[in-house]
Amino acid sequence: MDGTHICIIGLMSDLSSKSDSAVLYADDHYPEFLEDLKTLARIPSVSFPGFDPKEVVRSAEAVAALCKARGLENVEILTLPGAHPYVYADWLHAPGKPTLLLYAHHDVQPAGREELWKSPPFEPTERDGRLFGRGCADDKAGAVAHTSAIASWLKTHGSLPVNVKLIIEGEEECGSDNLEPFLRKYAAKVMADVIVLTDTGNFDHETPSITVALRGIVALDVTVRSMDHPLHSGMWGGAVADPVLALAKMISSVVDAKGRMAIPGIYKDVKKPAKAAEASLKVLKYTEKTFREQSGLFKGTKLLVAPKDLLRSNWYWPTFSVNAIQASSKKDCANIINDSAWAHMGIRVVPGMNPKKVLADLKKHLLKNAPWA
Ligand SMILES: [Zn+2]
Repeated sequence: MDGTHICIIGLMSDLSSKSDSAVLYADDHYPEFLEDLKTLARIPSVSFPGFDPKEVVRSAEAVAALCKARGLENVEILTLPGAHPYVYADWLHAPGKPTLLLYAHHDVQPAGREELWKSPPFEPTERDGRLFGRGCADDKAGAVAHTSAIASWLKTHGSLPVNVKLIIEGEEECGSDNLEPFLRKYAAKVMADVIVLTDTGNFDHETPSITVALRGIVALDVTVRSMDHPLHSGMWGGAVADPVLALAKMISSVVDAKGRMAIPGIYKDVKKPAKAAEASLKVLKYTEKTFREQSGLFKGTKLLVAPKDLLRSNWYWPTFSVNAIQASSKKDCANIINDSAWAHMGIRVVPGMNPKKVLADLKKHLLKNAPWA
């Protein structure tokens, strides 16, 4: 282990002056790299069901073309039945040096409510020094950060200091359902010593940061039914169990009056943040004001944790949220008792928690609190 350690230090000191010139190149060519990002962000590569999968294919092709243009080799679009395409590329001319696997994804979330966009979601637009458009940050910027860094090194030094493999996924936003079979099929191709993901953010504009962990998630769909068709509320309301009310009661049973999860034992296995994590929590100045500005939380909405625990709760505590809820619709709203109600909900899990157990406990709790059954 000692030998490896010294070798890495040697590599680092040699790298610092070289990376300085690569950084200068990157600064000089910033407008060009920004164009790369805009080109990718113009493609509406929404990977969700119901959106045109051909756009995700088009996006994979654009990413592959970018990889080629920026000096990567063996560029390939990798497919798997039923999966959106992945892009693979590499540069493997540093014998004896470690191999770095760089990850990003080229698919995006749906644009959401059009009226909330100040400029069209798929026409990247600069305002106040920032670029706005769906996927500009998450995660087409990730792909472009990789290709720009590689191009800057190759243009400056003609080679990279390590071997590099790049994998740009096409279905991260819809749950990476095929990631496991993908890794099984292409294990040899993606094998590496270290993996770096750019599907993360910086702490703020002035503080570059490395994300070392993200909270996980367990999620489920819940449907409550009480009859085989909707009924008129004036004719039937009273004796009939309303599935919307039942679902609302089930959901509200998951949290207490303070917004903390009320599932028995749910916090039992949660690990305390490590000492180093506590130390960085202390160093980072993060105020309630910044939190409110960044989240857009209204003045009259109370925080559910003490201001000193804002980062701790966002990073190290589990939480419950309801992502979607449906029973009839605004458009079809009528004086009815709905026959069914549906919601998608989940718990963000943190180190120490067993996701399978958390999901089972959530299910059990919901069923126990289902009224009128
Ligand atoms: Zn992402």
